[in-house]
Amino acid sequence: MHETSIVNSIMRTLEQEFEAEKLNKMNAIHLKVGILSNIEPRLLYNAYEAFHMTNPGYQHVKLKIEMTDLKIQCEVCDHITDVQKYRFICDNCERPSKNVIQGEEMLIHKVEFND
Ligand SMILES: [Zn+2]
Repeated sequence: MHETSIVNSIMRTLEQEFEAEKLNKMNAIHLKVGILSNIEPRLLYNAYEAFHMTNPGYQHVKLKIEMTDLKIQCEVCDHITDVQKYRFICDNCERPSKNVIQGEEMLIHKVEFND
């Protein structure tokens, strides 16, 4: 399953980023998931639940997923447009643009720790 490997790669990233001592104090992971990223939040939550079976140490760590909207930035006038209904057209000069600046990504936005 696609989402299982995403969860594994998120956790691997965090384990590389932080010391074990710090990881023990982690209590929440915030993700930003673009609507074009092909990631289904519900499946990601399920995969994260499944991850706990083999990694019970992370059971108390909450996963929070925020979906991000689709935005394009016009190559001609630099204007940023919120894409509605897959209409990839600049709001300002009405030229078509495929320069997506938000909505395709999946990133670890924030990690919370107990102090
Ligand atoms: Zn424009």
